[in-house]
Amino acid sequence: MRREFLQYLTEAPLLWLGIALLSALIFLADTVTDLEIAFAVLYVAVILISVRSGRQQAVFAVGIVCAALTIISYLLTRHGDTESGMVNGALSLLAIGATTYLAIRIETIEAGARQAQSELARMSRIMIVGELGTSIAHEVSQPITAIAANGNAALRWLSASPADEQEARQALGRIVKDAERAGEVIGRVRSLVAHASPPQDRIDMTSVITEALALLRNEIRANHIHLRTELAGDLPPVTGDRVQLQQVVLNFVINAIEAMGGVDAEKRALLVSAATDARKITVSVRDTGIGPPAASSGEIFAAFYTTKPGGMGMGLTISRSIIEAHGGRVYMAPNFPHGAVFGFILPSEMRMKR
Ligand code: ADP
Repeated sequence: MRREFLQYLTEAPLLWLGIALLSALIFLADTVTDLEIAFAVLYVAVILISVRSGRQQAVFAVGIVCAALTIISYLLTRHGDTESGMVNGALSLLAIGATTYLAIRIETIEAGARQAQSELARMSRIMIVGELGTSIAHEVSQPITAIAANGNAALRWLSASPADEQEARQALGRIVKDAERAGEVIGRVRSLVAHASPPQDRIDMTSVITEALALLRNEIRANHIHLRTELAGDLPPVTGDRVQLQQVVLNFVINAIEAMGGVDAEKRALLVSAATDARKITVSVRDTGIGPPAASSGEIFAAFYTTKPGGMGMGLTISRSIIEAHGGRVYMAPNFPHGAVFGFILPSEMRMKR
């Protein structure tokens, strides 16, 4: 108890000094003046000030001390009408008691609010960490799946008789590329966490798109998708992060492949296009799949929105934040007569937002 008391004092010495001085002044005034003058009600101010300590016990203790000082002062005061002195003393004690009670209530509510606030801060930190974990898992799962597929392919080429070293070498080359890409993604996330400024490379979107499509070549072929590209020859370079922009194209194309999983093989067509009007570049991924879900674009791009049984609902969210960080915007629309178009518009003279 003594230790707690000392701790209160050392935590906010000025507050307690002020409280002690004010109490002493009120006590003096109450003691030297007539019994008719109810100086003791001013202790109410002392109690209210003590709420600033943020300690219920401290407020309670101040209330008790104020009540005790009121009684002592009454006993020490020799002049004035004793009867009205008693009434005044009783009124003061009542005011002190009521104020102490209310002050403790206020402090309890404030403590609850403080607790809720820190809980909220903790929760949002947990959510950020969770979101980061989900996004790493999402971005890295694609290259890892590709590594496994190419590893299996390489094994098959090598165990065939005669072994096809040429094909096996190509599969191994793709494994190396995918592993590098996974490493780059993790590197970007790490620099994001460390608040390092993102790269400001000059990027040729045509090579970003063709590289992304090359990475998904196996999936496109395995799903019997007819792929077409319309990439304008005069695309101006954009400034930003090559890996991040490639991630967006990959996300859109993977979604398009998945959206076409349920339609007849001969109707599966994918058109990836890039056009420019000198001021901006528009990239679009057009599929003939099941079409966008019946939800607003805001909902579809929101975190954790998914209509897939094993989906995470992070791909579009991550894509949108990447494009917005590059000063652009994403869009989606139904494709005519079937499917969906997902795309983004980037200013050609871009500056990454910090
Ligand atoms: P996930 O792929 O894990 O579901 P995304 O954020 O990439 O997460 O996509 C969110 C949702 O948007 C998908 O579940 C799907 O309903 C819809 N969607 C995305 N791309 C397409 C598309 N090309 N065609 C139809 N729906 C799509």
